[in-house]
Amino acid sequence: MPRIVNGRRVITDEPTLAPIAARNGSPVYWQQIRTLVLDGGEVTYGCAHCDYTNPNPASVRPHLNRHRKDKKTKAANGNDSVAQVLAQLAKLDEIAKDRDRWKQRAQKAERDLRAIRRAIGGGGDA
Ligand SMILES: [Zn+2]
Repeated sequence: MPRIVNGRRVITDEPTLAPIAARNGSPVYWQQIRTLVLDGGEVTYGCAHCDYTNPNPASVRPHLNRHRKDKKTKAANGNDSVAQVLAQLAKLDEIAKDRDRWKQRAQKAERDLRAIRRAIGGGGDA
């Protein structure tokens, strides 16, 4: 299905050559800013993530920030797993409380045992 921009068919969709070159002199291409050559020879610049286009590539750059926010939103959805971890931690906390209760019972049992030994004249813990 041909892509239509400004009512014209997109002939080529290529990464945009940046006005700056890499330190080693090799050209730099903006992969997220697409150079769109339209049917009829008109050139415009498009976003790699959506249908946004602008005749000025410098205007596409700030637009790309929107998609960065999208990624943050995705990360927020990823918080589902964080919630799961928190739920597990809460469960661990319950287990820890449970363990503490058992520890208290065990310590009480030890004290009771010592008291019984003393009562029957066992002579201390030996
Ligand atoms: Zn976009």
